[in-house]
Amino acid sequence: MNINPRRTPLIAGNWKMNLDHLQAIAFVQKLAWNLKDAGHDFAAVEVAVFPPFTDLRSVQTLVSADKLPLAFGAQDVSAQDSGAYTGEISGAFLAQLECQYVIIGHSERRTLHNESDEQVAAKVTAALKHNLVPLICVGESAEDLAVHGPSAVPVAQLRAALAGVTNAADIVVAYEPVWAIGSGQAATPEQAEQVAAALRGVLADTLGQDVADKTRILYGGSVKSGNIAAFMREPNVDGALVGGASLDIPEFSSIVRYQKHVDL
Ligand code: PEP
Repeated sequence: MNINPRRTPLIAGNWKMNLDHLQAIAFVQKLAWNLKDAGHDFAAVEVAVFPPFTDLRSVQTLVSADKLPLAFGAQDVSAQDSGAYTGEISGAFLAQLECQYVIIGHSERRTLHNESDEQVAAKVTAALKHNLVPLICVGESAEDLAVHGPSAVPVAQLRAALAGVTNAADIVVAYEPVWAIGSGQAATPEQAEQVAAALRGVLADTLGQDVADKTRILYGGSVKSGNIAAFMREPNVDGALVGGASLDIPEFSSIVRYQKHVDL
């Protein structure tokens, strides 16, 4: 198992637009119990959930009152701090809710909301300004893959997203091939490794080797309990961003506990 001592693996659950605030409370309670009962070592493999905005206050209250060892974050953030931006959510508000992370540049935002690389970069800067760790998503479409191969688009997207980032910043990168998200067809571990290594090269070029060594690079796209261990064996893959399977507590717990349930 290739866990780099400088990088604690992170398993992150992106709920997308699922579970209201009441369902979120029940879900987070059960997830934490389930993992604690199974003896999960939260220091060895970090677990984070990304509920919809309207759930965050409830999740914060629960996590803080019950001292649950779960991290949480938002699925998006505004590039602006405040003002006439109807429907937007400021990073300042997320920081007040004790979010540690925020997903930025998810392919559903890039495609359904036409988010450009420049907007992604502005959101990354805004997140860092408010001490939120941006979880920057990059990934190629099926067409990009056919035309350019797997690395070119994610590499370009990451370079663009880092435009305002200094080498003091704490960031997470997620490689999520668009064609693998929600399709049941995950990338191969070899492809994930190839792209993750290229992304680490971008981090080294732009922010220095130290940042490249300590930054976690996740794979996302149809991750399940049956394939997570193969991704985690790759030296440059430090965790997973999980969509559909993060909504099923036994399945998500099993992904989180990949070191235990699969013969490595
Ligand atoms: C995602 O939403 O980021 C994702 C990877 O989804 P899924 O795991 O369902 O493919």
